[in-house]
Amino acid sequence: MSGAYRQSRIAIPEVTVHQRCSYMGEILHAYDPEEAVMEAQRCLQCAMPYCVQACPISQDCKGYIDMVAQGRFDDAAKVTLLGNPLATVLCKSCYHYCEEDCVKGGKGSAIAIRHLKRASLQFGHSDLLYVPMAPRGEKIAIVGGGPAGIMATWELCLRGYSVTLFEAQPFLGGQIETIPKYHLDGDELEVDVARFKNFDLKIVTGKRCGIDFTTEQLLKEGYLAVYLAVGASTPGLLKIPGEELPGVFHALPFLLNANHNPQGFLGRTDRTTVVIGGGDVAMDAARSARRFFSGKVTVAYRRSWEEMPATEEEREGILLEGIDFLPWRAPVKILGSDHVEGLVTARTELGAPDARGKRSVTVVPGSEELLPCDTVIIAAGQVADLNGFTKELDLKTPRGWPEGKGDGWATGVEGVFASGNKSIVYAMSAGTKTAQAIDAYVAKKLGRAPIPRPHPFGGKDPVPPPPGYGEPTWVL
Ligand SMILES: Cc1cc2nc3c(=O)[nH]c(=O)nc-3n(C[C@H](O)[C@H](O)[C@H](O)COP(=O)(O)OP(=O)(O)OC[C@H]3O[C@@H](n4cnc5c(N)ncnc54)[C@H](O)[C@@H]3O)c2cc1C
Ligand code: SF4
Ligand code: SF4
Repeated sequence: MSGAYRQSRIAIPEVTVHQRCSYMGEILHAYDPEEAVMEAQRCLQCAMPYCVQACPISQDCKGYIDMVAQGRFDDAAKVTLLGNPLATVLCKSCYHYCEEDCVKGGKGSAIAIRHLKRASLQFGHSDLLYVPMAPRGEKIAIVGGGPAGIMATWELCLRGYSVTLFEAQPFLGGQIETIPKYHLDGDELEVDVARFKNFDLKIVTGKRCGIDFTTEQLLKEGYLAVYLAVGASTPGLLKIPGEELPGVFHALPFLLNANHNPQGFLGRTDRTTVVIGGGDVAMDAARSARRFFSGKVTVAYRRSWEEMPATEEEREGILLEGIDFLPWRAPVKILGSDHVEGLVTARTELGAPDARGKRSVTVVPGSEELLPCDTVIIAAGQVADLNGFTKELDLKTPRGWPEGKGDGWATGVEGVFASGNKSIVYAMSAGTKTAQAIDAYVAKKLGRAPIPRPHPFGGKDPVPPPPGYGEPTWVL
C-alpha cells in the first residue's frame, strides 16, 4: 500500500507496561530509520498544512517530514533546527499541538510529527552551530533561563545583540528541569544550547533579579532592554491543616529534586502516596512516585476523570502504571503529629455555573473520609514569585506567570518587557514575540529599522518565522 493511503501510525517503540514502573529511563524509544521513512510517507504534504498552523512557533514540520520521507535525514535535521532552537527537548516533551490538527487524524491516526522530529535529529547531522550576525555591542538582559528566555536569547543573538542571560538557579531550563526522566532522560537541553556557541552570549547562573540585582540597575548599566521571562514556579498552597508536616511535598520541588538529587531528597522508598490534583504536573508527580516508591499511589481529584485537564498521554500513563484514581474528592486536612499519617478528603459535587458557564465544585457536608497514607504530594498549580520587582513595573499575573501588556508585553517601565506561557513551545512563542518587540523598541530608540530574523545558519536571505501556511519558507 502506498504510504499516503496508510491510515494507522507506525507504532512507536516503547518500554513494556510490565517493565516501566521499575525503569527510570524514557518510555518511548526512537523509530529506526526505516520506520521513520514509512511513517513520514503517510503524510499528505497538505497545501494548507494545519499542522504548521497549529504549532505555536510555526515549526515547519511539513518540511522536515517531506525530507524524512525521502530519507534525507541531514536536510530534515537542518529544517527542524532552522526554526526551533529547543528541538532536542521538544522532540520528546512537546504536547504536539500539531498532531491534534493533522488531517490524517480525521480518518485514522495523526502523523507522529513529534517523533519524526526526533528521527530527523537522531539520524541527521544535528551537531550544527547557529551563525549570528556580526556583533554590534548592543546589550540586552534576559532574566530567566526557561524556554521563553532561551528562545528570546536565540532570536536576539542571531540578530547580533550582545545578550546576558541571568538565571536564579544553578542551571538553565526552568520548568523543563522538572520534567520526569521517563520523558526526558538525558542532556537534551545541553545539546540544544551547545548550538549557541558562536553567540555573543554571557550566561550568569545563581543570581536572582530583585535580590542580587534589579531591573533599574541593569538599565543604568547600559542594557538597552530587559526581558523578564521568570515563569511561575512557586508551588500553589492548599492552605489546609497539616500542609507543613514532614511527608508533604509540593509537586514542583518534588519533581526537581527527583531529577537532580533523588537519593538525598527522597530518603526511604516504602511510601504510600496520595497526589492531589488533576493536571499534567499531578500526573508527573504520581508517575514519578510510582517509580520511586514501593507502596500504593493514588491520585485524588475534585472533579471527574473526563474533566481532568491532564493530557491523554499522561492519563493513559497513570492507568497503565497501576495508579489508583479517586474522582470527586477535595482535600480537607492532613493528619499526623510528626509525620503524615493520612489525608482527610470530602466528597464533591457540581454546583452552579460560574460567569464562563463552568460549573463550580462544592463539598458535600459530612462526607469526610480518611485515606491512610504517609506521603502527600500537592499539585495545586503554580504562582509567580514577584519578590523584589517594583510596583512601577505593573506586572500582571492573570495566567500565573508575570507579563506586561499588549502584543509585545511592555511593562510599566520603559525598556522592560515580561512574558511566559503554559507549555514549552508556547513559552518559546512568547519569547519570539517579545524578542521581536524588544528589537523594534531598540531600533526605534537608535533610529534604525528593526532587524528581521537572519538565516540561522548564515544563509544570505533573512528567514522570518513562517506564517503557518503554504510551502515551507526555509532555504537550505
Ligand atoms: C512538572 C512539569 C512538567 C511539565 N511538562 C511539560 C511537558 O512535558 N511539555 C511541555 O511543553 N511543557 C511542560 N511543562 C510546562 C513548561 O515547562 C512551562 O510552561 C515552561 O517551562 C514555561 O516557560 P517559561 O520560560 O515561561 O518559565 P520557566 O520555565 O518557569 O522559566 C523561568 C525561569 O526563570 C527563573 N527565575 C524566576 N525568577 C527569577 C528571578 N527573579 N531572577 C532570575 N531568574 C528567575 C526560574 O528559575 C526559571 O529558570 C511542565 C511543567 C512542569 C512544572
Ligand atoms: S514543536 Fe511541538 S507543536 Fe510544534 S511541530 Fe514540534 S511537536 Fe508539533
Ligand atoms: S496536516 Fe501536516 S502532517 Fe498532517 S498530513 Fe497534512 S502536511 Fe502532513
